[in-house]
Amino acid sequence: MSASSASNGARQPVFVLVGGTGDLAMRMLWPSLAMLDQDGFLSSDLRIISVAREDCGTDVCVDRIGEAVQKRVGESLEAETLSRFRKRIVHLALDAAHDDWGDKLKAELGDIDKLDIVFFLSVSPSLFKPICEHIERAGLSKAPNRVVIEKPIGRDLATSKIINDSVAHAFDESRTFRIDHYLGKETVQNLIALRFGNIVFEPLWNAQSIDHIQITIAETVGVGERLGYYDEYGAIRDMLQNHLLQLLCLLAMEPPSAITSDALRDEKVKVLRSLKPITAENVQTSTARGQYGPGFADGHPIAGYEAEKGSPSNTETFVAIKAEIANWRWAGTPIYMRTGKCLPSRSTEIVIQFKPLPHSIFGAEAHANRLLIRLQPDEDISLTLMNKAPGLTSEGMHLQALDLSLSLIKAFDGNGDGKPPRRRIAYERLILDALNGNNAQFVRRDEVEAAWTWVDGIVQAWTDTHMKPQMYPAGTFGPVSAFRLIEREGGRTWND
Ligand code: NAP
Repeated sequence: MSASSASNGARQPVFVLVGGTGDLAMRMLWPSLAMLDQDGFLSSDLRIISVAREDCGTDVCVDRIGEAVQKRVGESLEAETLSRFRKRIVHLALDAAHDDWGDKLKAELGDIDKLDIVFFLSVSPSLFKPICEHIERAGLSKAPNRVVIEKPIGRDLATSKIINDSVAHAFDESRTFRIDHYLGKETVQNLIALRFGNIVFEPLWNAQSIDHIQITIAETVGVGERLGYYDEYGAIRDMLQNHLLQLLCLLAMEPPSAITSDALRDEKVKVLRSLKPITAENVQTSTARGQYGPGFADGHPIAGYEAEKGSPSNTETFVAIKAEIANWRWAGTPIYMRTGKCLPSRSTEIVIQFKPLPHSIFGAEAHANRLLIRLQPDEDISLTLMNKAPGLTSEGMHLQALDLSLSLIKAFDGNGDGKPPRRRIAYERLILDALNGNNAQFVRRDEVEAAWTWVDGIVQAWTDTHMKPQMYPAGTFGPVSAFRLIEREGGRTWND
């Protein structure tokens, strides 16, 4: 259960969290580490070093961490966890973009040949290059040490290459862990189990049986304090290039030969490379761009994106895309993806809509089957099946659609106490994998680049056709064009 430790002859594990006082660290990373500690997944001799420029001292830093963990996990936190966890942590006030930070860190670390170091860079990507250079110069980038980096990996293909090249100089690909936190979610991992742990779906998992697929990631919140960052990126770069395309890959990939990192990622990258390019010729009929205007969302009145920004903006806060995969399995099955801010509900869900019966002996009463995989807010899977409506009628048999439902929360009541098990933070899985050197749930460089290649084509087509975002009132499901995108295909609608 625990990671390796020096006490059994292995190197001593060290987790260096650069950006240890930042927002991501406080909301996600420290709580994840603390809960891994509580559940016995951290090696007893794991040291954790927090790095930031702020000279707050270790005591103040660990107090803040304690509050952040308490706030995030609440009553799941056991009394003794924090006192044990705090003892692992040292805070270093260092400017990681400054030349001598690697040497100062090295002085703190001791004999580096006896250490197994994970560097987690929870800082702006503009710092990846100087930080990696200093790590390398200080002799800290040698195997088995590895680096974990967060999105955004660039703003397009060209900038992602610059970031990847600067990291690659210090850490080879097998020791570069690119996080897409969706891959750490329990239900996203369950997609692999559902598809490749059951034989019932595979014969139907193709264009012959599936009419279309919908993938939705809906957020009720607006851009809030991230406006500066968001205005540069928009929904297509912030959400679609990474999270939505990763979900699409898991749904559409061929069965891998093994559950090893390269076998999985080889199949995912083939999907990305098979996406049909969207160009100026079809961008108007294959995509919808929206920007939230005044309205009411997440329980609050919303002034609208441009009003929040204080100036006009061409940034989309909503995007919907009809994607097509050019291979034998999927040719002819559209995959509709959409994501946006200030939508009416917070949800992540996948709809697999099967085709109608080739010949219905029940007339129009027989609806096509539908598999709904809900990832957020509840985790459940339901398959809509046609049944005989109970009772007698003088005209004979009537049909009724019923759901065969699997609530994952209820099914996996871990303690047997009737309470749902604690929902793990996605970063727990990913940090544990990074500590164990398992990169299967991290994104490989060729995946990032294939995703950007496709997305860059869409952004270029928007520019070439002067396609601006359409306003949608905050609290609604995106602009009218998003509904037209799917309705154009005849009888199809979003699963709202
Ligand atoms: P943040 O709140 O601005 O925190 C940045 C952290 O880095 C702070 O601890 C800051 O402390 C430290 N830092 C900045 N410059 C430094 C330097 N030169 N040397 C050492 N430490 C330095 O940023 P964040 O929101 O946590 O985001 C971190 C990364 O995660 C970014 O790449 C972001 O895009 C990504 N990300 C964040 C989220 C999120 O929800 N926050 C989600 C997805 C991805 P000092 O100022 O004291 O140095």
